[in-house]
Amino acid sequence: MLMRGVTLLGSTGSIGTSTLAVIERQPERFRVVALTAHSKAEVLIAQCLRHRPEFAVLSKAADAQRVQDALRRAGSDCTVLHGEQGLEQVATLPQADTVVAAIVGAAGLKSTLASVRAGKRVLLANKEALVMAGGVFMSAVREHGATLLPIDSEHNAILQALPSDFVGDLDAVGVRRIVLTASGGPFRLMRADQLERVTADEACAHPNWVMGRKISVDSATMMNKGLEVIEAHWLFGAPRDRIAVVIHPQSIIHSMVEYRDGSTLAQLGQPDMRTPIAYALAYPERIESGVQPLDLTRVGRLDFSPPDLERFMCLRLAYEALDQGGTASAVLNAANEVAVSGFLAGELRFPRIGELIEDVMAEVPMAPADSIEAVLSADRMARQCAQDWIDRRRVGGDAIVAARVSGSA
Ligand code: NAD
Ligand code: MG
Repeated sequence: MLMRGVTLLGSTGSIGTSTLAVIERQPERFRVVALTAHSKAEVLIAQCLRHRPEFAVLSKAADAQRVQDALRRAGSDCTVLHGEQGLEQVATLPQADTVVAAIVGAAGLKSTLASVRAGKRVLLANKEALVMAGGVFMSAVREHGATLLPIDSEHNAILQALPSDFVGDLDAVGVRRIVLTASGGPFRLMRADQLERVTADEACAHPNWVMGRKISVDSATMMNKGLEVIEAHWLFGAPRDRIAVVIHPQSIIHSMVEYRDGSTLAQLGQPDMRTPIAYALAYPERIESGVQPLDLTRVGRLDFSPPDLERFMCLRLAYEALDQGGTASAVLNAANEVAVSGFLAGELRFPRIGELIEDVMAEVPMAPADSIEAVLSADRMARQCAQDWIDRRRVGGDAIVAARVSGSA
C-alpha cells in the first residue's frame, strides 16, 4: 500500500483536528510530515508530540522559538518554522505528496497556491483561496499537474456523484445542474427585525455542524453558501445558472448532481466532516473514517425549500460577484472577512455584514483577476474600504447603530 506523506496547513482548527482523527486510524497509509497553526502553541506542541511531524509552523517567530524549545526538551527533533515563508516551505516539501489546505480565509491563499504549483495532491478546505483567485488556481492546477480534491462537504458530495471520468466538462458527462444543499444556518426561520439582536455566540451555534467561528458566521449569513457557489463554479466548470441552492435543514443530503435524463444523484451521510476528509485523503479508495452509519429511519424526514435571497442578501451578493467576474469575488471575500471579524468583536450588528459587503463591492473598482498580485491588491483595497465603513459608523457611535435599529424595526 502506498504510504502518503501529509502536510496539514491549519492543523489546530476544526478541519485540522478532524483530519488528524482520520489519519490516526490509518497509520499504514498516512504519515504526518508537517503541522501548522496560527498562534495556538500548546495545541500544536501536543499534536507534534503525538503525530511526530518533521516540521511545524507558527505565524510569529517568538511563538516558533518557544515551541521549538518545548519540543526539544520533550526529546522531539521536529524543526519549527514561522510565517508565510514557513508555510510555503512545508506546502512544497518533496516528502509530502498530499497537502491539506485548512487555514481559514485569505491567510491560506499563498501556501495553498504554493502547494498547487508544486504539483501536490491538494485537499481543499480553504474555500476562500479559490473564491479569491479561482482563475489563477485552476490554471496553476493544469500547468503543474496538481490534483485538487474538495473537502467542503457539498463539493465532496458532488465529486462523489459525478462520473469518475469527469474532467471539467459537465456537458460531456450529461450534467444539467449542480444542486448545493444549505442547512439555512441557525437563523433560518428568523424575521429580519429579529436578526438585529442576534449575538456572536448565537451565530456560532450551528444546528448541525461544529465548525470554526468564521465559517459559522458565514453559515448564519449564508455567505458560506455564496462562497460555495463560487467554489463550485471553479471546481466543476459550472456557469452560474447551472449552480442551484436548496435549503435542506437536516444536512443529510450533502449536495446533488442533476443529469440531463432526469436522474438526480445525491450523496447522503451524517453531518460529520470526517467523511469528506476520509474520501479526499484516500481518493478514489474508501477508508474507515470513524463516522457512524446513517440510519434514515431515525432521521425520519428530509425537508427542502428555496433560499430567501432578500433576508440572506449575502447569497445574492455572491451570485452577483460571480456575474461581475474579475476581482469582484476577491472583494466580496475580503469585505466579508472584515465584516465577520467586526461582528465577532461586537462592533457590528449581524445585518450590517451584508450591507457593508454590498457597499464595498460598489466602491472598490473591479479589475481582471489574471494574477495573484491583482487579486491581492483588490483584497487590500476592499479590506481598507471595509474598515473605513466600520470606522465611519464608530465615529457616529451608538447613535448611528441605534438609528439604524429603530429605522428597520
Ligand atoms: P478554524 O478557525 O477552526 O481553524 C483555522 C485554522 O487556520 C487553525 O489551525 C488556525 O491556527 C489557522 N489560521 C488561522 N488564521 C491563520 C493565519 N493568519 N495564518 C496561519 N494560520 C492561520 O477553521 P475551520 O472551521 O477549521 O475552517 C478552516 C477552513 O475550512 C475554512 O476555509 C472553512 O471555510 C473551511 N471549511 C470548514 C468546515 C468545517 O466544518 N469546519 C467545513 C467546510 C469548509
Ligand atoms: Mg460546506
